[in-house]
Amino acid sequence: MNKAIFLDRDGVINEEVGEYITRVADFKVLPHAVEGIKKFNDAGWQVVIITNQGGIAKGLYTAAELDQMHRLMQQQLAEVTAHVDLIYYCPHHPDFGKCLCRKPDSLMVQKALARLNVSPVHAAFIGDKQRDIESAAGASVKGYLIEPNENWVPLADEIIQKIS
Ligand SMILES: [Mg+2]
Ligand SMILES: [Zn+2]
Repeated sequence: MNKAIFLDRDGVINEEVGEYITRVADFKVLPHAVEGIKKFNDAGWQVVIITNQGGIAKGLYTAAELDQMHRLMQQQLAEVTAHVDLIYYCPHHPDFGKCLCRKPDSLMVQKALARLNVSPVHAAFIGDKQRDIESAAGASVKGYLIEPNENWVPLADEIIQKIS
């Protein structure tokens, strides 16, 4: 039985600063996120990031710069033998046209569930915005709303225990 944890990025994995993270230097992985991701890795869960990155559509940063941030994140995780399995991001922004993937829509979650062969009842979503929870709900996945930059390690323990 495959299990998956979906994580929003800004405010859950890296420090939410109240604006787009446009430079790799401003991408700061939260220490508790490293710990939380490792817990899911060790429990055999797939770890998936689901993130809106409308700054790409706005030309604030490029997909290559975003990849660089995510490589940096994986390097920091690797130091404690943790990793993220999949990253889905929406590069669009409604100012520049409609898309189907941007949260609160659920397409990214649905794609990940299908790709990983995970049932929605064996998955959960941790996010710091209502649109994260809506995106999860649209794919029948339970969402857990936290405050931006809140330590979600206790929540990880709770979810792992609940879905085992
Ligand atoms: Mg967020
Ligand atoms: Zn999109």
